[in-house]
Amino acid sequence: MPPAHTLRSAAALADAGLIAPERLPALERVAAQYAVAITADMAALIEPANQADPIARQFLPQVAELVSTPGEDPDPIGDLTHSPVEGVVHRYADRVLLKPTHTCAVYCRFCFRREMVGPEGLKTLSPAQLDAACAYIAARPEIWEVIVTGGDPLVLSPRRLRDIGERLAQIEHVKVVRFHTRVPAVDPSLITGEMVDALKASGKAVYVALHANHARELTPAARAACGRIVDAGIPMISQTVLLAGINDDPQTLSALMRAFVETRIKPYYLHHHDYAPGTAHLRTTIDEGQALMKALRGAISGLCQPTYILDIPGGHGKVPVGPGYLDNGTVEDPEGRAHPYPPAG
Ligand SMILES: *Cc1c(COP(=O)(O)O)cnc(C)c1O
Ligand code: SF4
Repeated sequence: MPPAHTLRSAAALADAGLIAPERLPALERVAAQYAVAITADMAALIEPANQADPIARQFLPQVAELVSTPGEDPDPIGDLTHSPVEGVVHRYADRVLLKPTHTCAVYCRFCFRREMVGPEGLKTLSPAQLDAACAYIAARPEIWEVIVTGGDPLVLSPRRLRDIGERLAQIEHVKVVRFHTRVPAVDPSLITGEMVDALKASGKAVYVALHANHARELTPAARAACGRIVDAGIPMISQTVLLAGINDDPQTLSALMRAFVETRIKPYYLHHHDYAPGTAHLRTTIDEGQALMKALRGAISGLCQPTYILDIPGGHGKVPVGPGYLDNGTVEDPEGRAHPYPPAG
């Protein structure tokens, strides 16, 4: 029987049969360090007999998380060094992150903000802090876009989201509002008509970026929830983290990108994994990522191609790190053969 509600502790995972009882003491130590939650929708997708289940690997704690390796950093992409006021990260002149909450519907074992999210993490912004964050944005005419993230902003009630939208509506120079979320896939029932209306409350050009890492997350209910968002006139884009043993093979990645496009979600970023603490077991190399990008380019529609992105450790910004095709007077075709370029005259 799949659970009826979100499981929020190692004991709840054991009760639901998702982790073996003998592993409970060790996994309770992991859960004491990094928040645990898996929604009923995601728990129902797990095949407990499959040791390598890609949904289980994303959400069920593992003892490997207690191992730290060189280069790992509690703030791997330098959010804190670019945070002028609580809840705002301002790294690029024309856009800011607004983080109204650090709660999520699920807690991903590879989360790059794992030291900030969850019940022990940073608190949800108070009304006064939200005022200060909006005042910061209002005072800077160069801020063209506000990216509402967290945590996951779609765990907030439609009333709270509407309030944020109405505040942003008053800032004339903000033209675009982008929400980053996992909710339409991991808890599609939250995407009600009221929620969709709240997303549009700013009256700006609104986008929703869905984070999903495996095609199985795009269940019929998830696809229907995304359909409600897109039908309301909100374009959707995707974000995926490249994860060892979860989606680091060409078939899995192709199936995911196609599932996005079938759902009217334009693949946006494939993120190279960040150096978050205790995540070495989920990391791939850039060489592996580039080989996967080449495989995608050779096999599937141009609509299905994300940009492969590295967020440079320390807060130095995002750059594309996809494969190059030009080399010293030759260009490589999608099948890997070299041709002279420019063509011989
Ligand atoms: C990722 C990120 C953004 C958004 O980057 P895009 O390339 O526009 O998607 C903005 N600000 C910060 C601090 C970020 O980490
Ligand atoms: S939903 Fe995003 S912020 Fe929340 S745990 Fe997953 S990766 Fe981290």
